[in-house]
Amino acid sequence: MSSVVVVGAQWGDEGKGKITNALCSDADLVVRFQGGANAGHTVSLDGVPIVFHLLPSGISVPGIQNVIGPGVVIDPIALAVEIAGVTERGVEVGENLLIDVGAHMVLPYHKALDAAEERARGQSAIGTTHRGIGPAYADRCARDGIPIGALAAFDEFRPRFEEAVARKNKHITRLYGEQPLDAREMLEQLYPVAQTLARHLADTPEMIREAIRAGLNVLFEGAQGTLLDVTFGTYPFVTSSSTTAGGVAIGTGVPPSMIGEVIGIAKAYTTRVGAGPFPTEVTDDTARMIQERGAERGATTGRARRCGWLDIVALRYSIAVNGIKRIIVTKLDVLDSFETIKVCVAYDIDGRQTDCFPRTADELGRVNPVYVEMPGWMSVTKEARHESELPPRALAYLNEICRLADVDLCSVSVGAKGEAIVEFTSVF
Ligand code: GDP
Repeated sequence: MSSVVVVGAQWGDEGKGKITNALCSDADLVVRFQGGANAGHTVSLDGVPIVFHLLPSGISVPGIQNVIGPGVVIDPIALAVEIAGVTERGVEVGENLLIDVGAHMVLPYHKALDAAEERARGQSAIGTTHRGIGPAYADRCARDGIPIGALAAFDEFRPRFEEAVARKNKHITRLYGEQPLDAREMLEQLYPVAQTLARHLADTPEMIREAIRAGLNVLFEGAQGTLLDVTFGTYPFVTSSSTTAGGVAIGTGVPPSMIGEVIGIAKAYTTRVGAGPFPTEVTDDTARMIQERGAERGATTGRARRCGWLDIVALRYSIAVNGIKRIIVTKLDVLDSFETIKVCVAYDIDGRQTDCFPRTADELGRVNPVYVEMPGWMSVTKEARHESELPPRALAYLNEICRLADVDLCSVSVGAKGEAIVEFTSVF
């Protein structure tokens, strides 16, 4: 299979970065297709963690072509900072990074508007990362955005930007009563950034299609997770892009017929950042244990993640929406010291039991999870590299969740380190 999509099958933070990074050694091309600098993929570089926000995870692996596709929204300033940061860590960023000219920019006024809108929402805040992602996608839809290709001709970009700032300042001052932004100051910041990024700008869709036609291994790297998809997630507590496999087609120009397989990444339990319903959330000692053992803090924001048991109803929904046939289960090691592990197998909504994932956040908020309990394995899994090295009860847990979710197991991650993986079947 030469083109594979890796998507988060839950609410994001499933460990996609580590998995994509591990799969990179067999990939020729790694492509980001949606989201922006609100994503935070942690990968381990020479044993030390490094977080990628906009850069595809393949950037740290020599010999791989990385593409930021047209479906991504790019904060050019954040990207330049990220490139400088990884370069300092010894990662070469040159011809191995292509940025599609059609990807829209997240400009400083988008960030200002994101924060102002969240403040104005008060109690009803969505819990955005204030990175300007929503306003940038909104501008793209309203035909008011600026694609990053515009930076190549800075003299033409300048008046376009000034005009946009003048209009946005009306919103910022009149609607939200906040201070106007200074276009000149922002242009001074953007000019050197444009110089840095110019050499990476390219027309990428045909190049990706050609790579697939040629039988090269192409990996599409999803950010966030299925339940945060703007259409199929728990709206309005979602991100502003199409995080599901369908997002690949609209975010890269690669038609659905050229997508080989979709692999879902799911934690052995569930977490969620920000507001919104979360049926299997726990708030007692169990949550604290998962949070501590799993270091469950946002890679982008540092916010503590809400934690809970694995939710098969939500997982089955993700599998259906994405067309997932195989999953990679991550963070199995986090459950090593639980005597009993719960798995949610159905929902009770207003006294009615169902295994269908509700389509409204309101209904999802009324769900009572129906659990089955499984015995924990109470032993360390992080050294396991082969199925036979996993405790029988851990294997039983994995087999049972795959049976319940009606999906095959591709591999299992048992630690943050790159090599901490037990492979059942290979991806490419
Ligand atoms: P992503 O956005 O899906 O890549 O996820 P994040 O990077 O936000 O969060 C995943 C976190 O879990 C990172 O800190 C990873 O280093 C870590 N991680 C990934 N896989 C495992 C695993 O199997 N076990 C443990 N303990 N940590 C893991």
